[in-house]
Amino acid sequence: MLEQSATLFGLPAEVKFCTRCVMSNQRPCSYPEFKHTKDRLTPTMHIAEDGVCDACRFADIKEQIDWANREEELWELLEKHRSKDGSYDCIAPGSGGKDSAYAAHLLKYKYGMHPLTVTWPPIMYTDYGWKNYQNWIDVGGFDNVTFKPNGRVHKLLTKLSIENLLHPFQTFILGQKSIAPKLALKFGIPLIFYGENEAEYGNPIADNSTSLRDKSFFAMQNIQNIHLGGVLVPELIERYGLSMNDLQPYFPAEANALAASNIEVYYLGYYIKWTPQEAYYYAVEHTGFQARPFRTEGTYSKYNSIDDKIDDLHYYTTFVKFGIGRTTYDASQEIRNKHLTRDEGVALVRRFDGEFPNRYFAEIMEYLEIEPDHFLDLCDQARSPHLWMQDNDGWKLRHRVS
Ligand SMILES: [Zn+2]
Repeated sequence: MLEQSATLFGLPAEVKFCTRCVMSNQRPCSYPEFKHTKDRLTPTMHIAEDGVCDACRFADIKEQIDWANREEELWELLEKHRSKDGSYDCIAPGSGGKDSAYAAHLLKYKYGMHPLTVTWPPIMYTDYGWKNYQNWIDVGGFDNVTFKPNGRVHKLLTKLSIENLLHPFQTFILGQKSIAPKLALKFGIPLIFYGENEAEYGNPIADNSTSLRDKSFFAMQNIQNIHLGGVLVPELIERYGLSMNDLQPYFPAEANALAASNIEVYYLGYYIKWTPQEAYYYAVEHTGFQARPFRTEGTYSKYNSIDDKIDDLHYYTTFVKFGIGRTTYDASQEIRNKHLTRDEGVALVRRFDGEFPNRYFAEIMEYLEIEPDHFLDLCDQARSPHLWMQDNDGWKLRHRVS
């Protein structure tokens, strides 16, 4: 039995909540997935002495940015790379969500670029996600390359990432981060544009001071040191009978090839003020994006990350591991964008955070060939004693936002 003060995943022992949003200091910073192991120590969200988290601090900085000036910088960058002969001059990665639809459409139709859209598809498309992906290409009007990995390998690696890391979304994140740089190398396309900088949501503030994406997220020197599903590559080959060819799609771009190229990876969110709600309205108008008519389990919203059935399960696992469910993520972001007050956010978290994702659960377990009870056991093993306690009604968080 672990002590109450014991923490898993290197989480901070004292739970603190930001006084402006509803996020806690247990939120992991983004981290290269291919370094993710069972016993890694996760860097987490910094909350300063005055009680304000880095993401809220950055929201203040964002208010001070001269966006007209930033857009000028963007025009200059694009001018330098815009193709004159009809060839692609940039890659816009995405699977048909509102943010990628918005980014690709702006690049092509506002800024006159020639983007190739690139898709690493969801593990299990929802009906709405599939329709939104098709509309992105058909209504929005883009060329698209979709890379669909070997289904048997995909399933095995997704299962391992659940069993070893309680991280159902890892195979999606791995591919989604590396597919664009790899295809940029292959097609000789110089620019890659992601939408917003994930650092806005809680990485160290310094990460936001550049428009360039940190290469540690998509380049790797030594393949032997890569972990997939928490297992080292040589062991995956040895123990699970996989080949290098099977694993290739999950590897980051080769660091030397990338360094020798002039490919640069940018965030559009550095140059234009990125508001998820506005991205949503824009995508509805220009690329036929549709919200789901029903609320996503675990949160109150209908249009954020709705294309993968496994996404709902993913946020359930963040609730189990860090005490942070999907409502906490959604509400914190909307508080920072001034679409919700903190009190409203607290009420929403108390109502919806950690709701079990019943809608697709049985189907996902069947697809991955995991016994539902086994999954629930894995969840219980991942409950850090400093976050969770158990009484007659079951598991309860020790600390809740108020
Ligand atoms: Zn905050």
